[in-house]
Amino acid sequence: MEKIKMTTPLVEMDGDEMTRILWQMIKEELLLPFVDLKTEYYDLGLKHRNETDDQVTYDSAEATKKYGVAVKCATITPNAARMPEYNLKEMWKSPNGTIRAILDGTVFRAPIIVKGIEPYVRTWKKPICIARHAYGDVYKNVEMKIPGPGKVELVYTGQDGQEMRETVHEYQGPGIAQGMHNLNRSIESFARSCFNYALDTKQDVWFATKDTISKKYDHTFKDIFQEIFDQEYKEKFEAAGITYFYTLIDDAVARVIKSEGGYIWACKNYDGDVMSDMVATAFGSLAMMTSVLVSPEGYYEYEAAHGTVQRHYYKHLKGEETSTNSVATIFAWTGALRKRGELDGNQPLSDFADKLEAATLKTIEDGKMTKDLAMMTSIPNPVVLNSQDFIRAVRATLEASLA
Ligand code: NAP
Ligand code: MG
Repeated sequence: MEKIKMTTPLVEMDGDEMTRILWQMIKEELLLPFVDLKTEYYDLGLKHRNETDDQVTYDSAEATKKYGVAVKCATITPNAARMPEYNLKEMWKSPNGTIRAILDGTVFRAPIIVKGIEPYVRTWKKPICIARHAYGDVYKNVEMKIPGPGKVELVYTGQDGQEMRETVHEYQGPGIAQGMHNLNRSIESFARSCFNYALDTKQDVWFATKDTISKKYDHTFKDIFQEIFDQEYKEKFEAAGITYFYTLIDDAVARVIKSEGGYIWACKNYDGDVMSDMVATAFGSLAMMTSVLVSPEGYYEYEAAHGTVQRHYYKHLKGEETSTNSVATIFAWTGALRKRGELDGNQPLSDFADKLEAATLKTIEDGKMTKDLAMMTSIPNPVVLNSQDFIRAVRATLEASLA
């Protein structure tokens, strides 16, 4: 069979630990035999980030702006324990945080639905895609422990000396206080990312805040979304046959549980943090969640939602067998290849991405899977495969489907 040609390279961001091992296997078994793979390679493994003083992370984000589509392997975010382990010069920042700050993007997370892994919520038939606003609120707050009686005020001083002042509370005894902020610019780009991604994937958008209680803060989120929708997206949504729906956050939670899925749920930062873990768990497994960072300019970075699966890597280093689920990492590649195909008008490339996804799901539905899925599947007598054999089984299914 002739290999599928590519015109524009993908930005390839390699990573760490067990996912770095899977990365190599996926390329060798599932991509290189079928696609004349063109990538611009950036090694975001912690060793190389340390060697380049993290410059490689910045370069990979700039390359994503140049080419438009990236695929990223999970990476270590260093903590104290990693300092001696990798002999680090500095506790480098989270690569995802750095890339997100440069691309100014929103992260969309969606579960991969497969027969045999049933959601805990019986009504859910289609993926629920969570879009989490990634700036401000409680994640950039300032806090105080109030020692005793006294007054806490919120004061704004404009550059022209204009002053606004609100009393937060007159304390009679000890307590606590917190100040938070957000920026119109950030909320606007969040809204545009959500609406663009909805048009891209032909899904409705749901958005919810607590605007009845928070009449200025949350209400501003509601107003900005509505303004941008009315001015820039209303007609495009009508043409695409999709809708934008706003409600209160508690009403949204009730509706989500009763829904059959199949929409984008845009969440404020904290709601997204909490709800994405709820949705991921209820759909079955973190190893089956995909993640894509979409910038308001339309740059895409695809990855798995899970981390580097450190515990499995240490087993692998000891020469023990691992059964690590590669599905979300395979889907990061297929997401990126399909998008590259769309942007380049390269239909065979997009078709290949579809076929590789279908082969991955069919392999599981045929009862061949990694241990994490075998423990929760409704398929009787699943065959538990190790990391490498699962990828080889997907290859066999793919080859059969291409023949
Ligand atoms: P993790 O890699 O997501 O793994 C946590 C646990 O979840 C694993 O120990 C495993 O459970 C299970 N799991 C996750 N993915 C799996 C898969 N593909 N197949 C089978 N089981 C899977 O989180 P972590 O161990 O807390 O973090 C490890 C490193 O990843 C950290 O250095 C962190 O900074 C980094 N991280 C990176 C990203 C990213 O790059 N996007 C995201 C999160 C974390 P069992 O051990 O029970 O089998
Ligand atoms: Mg969280």
